[in-house]
Order: sequence, then C-alpha cells, then structure tokens
Amino acid sequence: MKTGERNEVFFFPYDANRAFLRGLRTLFSRVANVVSTGDSVAVKVHMGEYGASAYLRPPIVRRVCDLIKEAGAKPFVTDTTTLYSLGRFTASKYLATAAFNGFTKRTLGAPVIIADGEQGYDGEWVDIPKRVSNCSLDKVKIARKILDADSMVVLSHLKGHELSGFGGSIKNVAMGCVTKESKAAQHSVNRGVMDISKCTGCGKCIEACAFEALSVLEEKVVRDEKKCLNCNNCLYSCPEKVFSLPLQAKEKFQVYLAHAAARVLSRFRSKVVFINFIQDVTPLCDCITPSGLPIIPDIGMLASTDVVAIDKASLDLIAQTKPIGKFASISSSDILGKINGTDSLIQIRTAQELGLGSMAYELCVTK
Ligand code: SF4
Ligand code: SF4
Repeated sequence: MKTGERNEVFFFPYDANRAFLRGLRTLFSRVANVVSTGDSVAVKVHMGEYGASAYLRPPIVRRVCDLIKEAGAKPFVTDTTTLYSLGRFTASKYLATAAFNGFTKRTLGAPVIIADGEQGYDGEWVDIPKRVSNCSLDKVKIARKILDADSMVVLSHLKGHELSGFGGSIKNVAMGCVTKESKAAQHSVNRGVMDISKCTGCGKCIEACAFEALSVLEEKVVRDEKKCLNCNNCLYSCPEKVFSLPLQAKEKFQVYLAHAAARVLSRFRSKVVFINFIQDVTPLCDCITPSGLPIIPDIGMLASTDVVAIDKASLDLIAQTKPIGKFASISSSDILGKINGTDSLIQIRTAQELGLGSMAYELCVTK
C-alpha cells in the first residue's frame, strides 16, 4: 500500500550528550497518534540474554512507558521465550533474566509479561495470505498477549545478526512476537546439514539440545528430525564442526522473517509504531554472549510507522558512518551484512514487496 511513496522517518541524532529522554519525547510526539486512550499497548523489546551487555537500557523503555501513560494508554513490556535453552527459555527464566538485566515492573512502571506463556507455546496460528520469493512459510503462531493487545510500540536495538545480517524492527516483530513452534518454522531453513564422518561421538551436542532430538549410536550422532526444532544449539556446540548451514540459509531465512513480520503486523493494521536505536551496534545480536564490541560510534534514534523505511534508514545511517576497531577497513552500503556473510537488504526488499512499506523514505531530523 505504501510502496513507492516517500515515508517519513523521524531521526534524533545523538550529540555529545546523547539526550535520550528529550529525544524520546520528541520522537514519540511525532508518532503518538497510533496509541489511543485506554489502549492496552504492547511495548515489544528484547530484554537481553543473561550475560549480554548491549541490549536497550531499562530507562529507555521506562521513558517510553511513561509517554504511553501520558497518552492515556496502558503499556506492558513484552517479549517471547527463546528456541535455544539459555536464560530466556521459559517465561520464569526470562523474568529472572529480565530482572537481572534491570527490567522489572518497578523499574519500568509497567508490568513485564512474557507473551507466549511459560513454555512458549501459547498463541494462535494464522495463515499468511500473500507470499513472494518462493516462500514456503504459510502460517505463523502469534504469541497470545501480543495478539490480545490493542496497539504496539516496537523498540529495536540495531545490531548485527549472524543469520539475517542485521536485526532491526522487521526481525524484532518476526521472531520476537511468535511462539516457539513459529520460531522453529522460520528457522527450518537453517537446520544444520550433518557431515557424520567428522563426528567423534563426544556427546556435547546432546547436552546442548533441549528437545532430546539427538543421540549417539555406534559413536556417531543421530538426529530425530521430528523432534528437532531448528534451534542450532548443536551447530554452535560441536567442536568438530559436524553441522553446517544449508546453502542460501541466511537469504531464505530473511524471506521467512519478512513474511512472518507481515502477518504479525497485519494484526495491528495502523496501530503500530517502530523506534530503532542505533547505539552499541555490535556485530552479533543480543542473544549472543558476548556479542562483540561496537562496530561504529553511536548515531541516534529513529521513529516511524513504516517498518521498511525505518530499517532501510537505519542501515543507510550505519553505512554513512566509518566503522571502528577491527572492522575499520570495511566500506559497504551493508556493513552488518558484510560482517555476517549475507545481503541483509533481502529482508527489507521482501517486506517492501509484501506491501509493508517503502524503501524510499524521507528522513526528518528532529531536535
Ligand atoms: S537437534 Fe540441534 S537444532 Fe535440533 S533441536 Fe536439537 S540442538 Fe536444536
Ligand atoms: S558434538 Fe559433534 S562430534 Fe560430538 S557427538 Fe555431537 S556431532 Fe558428534
């Protein structure tokens, strides 16, 4: 519907002071009309894995909750459980990790609710009506509490991602608003290809698999394909590199992400807004500990009602900034994609093709 138009992306650049409280008030005033009086507002945010350090700081989220309350609505801070078995695998574990990272009802002034329930399966399957780029993903299971909200404010920390190149608003919605089965479905294109000849039968991957999908038979690993949920914990835990990503996995994964995001967002129609934070831009995502040192100096915050425009504008601003540290020599219009070995614009192009917004945006600098 918006393809081809120039959509507004409001930009609050950081100066030496990084005045985020003022910046958030300014940005929110430009997009606040998506929230109506009395709305139950899902504030979608990744609250950081246990041991992570680059995730969005709690005062940022607190400020957004306060602004939503000033608009007469009722915010709750939310995310979903993970597919892999670390500090956010269940709702109880996530709440403990969130508290450790500084996110509680007391610090945020709003309840913290894990949207897909204790085990991560509470939600509703919905069909994906429109598909492009030979996408086989035909449905998503939207997490219950996100499904029940009246409107949504999506807060995204911009960073690299080893499978999708970068993570911004599209990825935050696609993976972060759905249940475990739906995450597994999106990750099905990443299920590791096995080279059994390298396997020593050490059993490390079995310990890493939370779904009891692996066993060792005659000193070689065996995978139960029905039990596997594509979390790739085995891939990262195997010392012999028995598992590797299938060809084009990263590119297909991005196509799936865009489709999942499109379906989740259609639930909210125009009652959703995105705020991207280009700060602490690490090469890897907030699920990985450690996620690495920042690759660029901090840039600022963006807000838009167009998920395509805001992610494209974020990548463009990063591309215009000289990388630092060990990435200083990279020159690319897609720095994070280059670091992570993919073309990370695929998710943005696909989202545009699905009618989620426009890559032709207008950057409106605010003070
Ligand atoms: S077999 Fe590997 S990818 Fe599948 S669920 Fe177990 S750890 Fe995850
Ligand atoms: S961790 Fe690797 S080498 Fe060890 S059993 Fe699993 S696949 Fe084989």
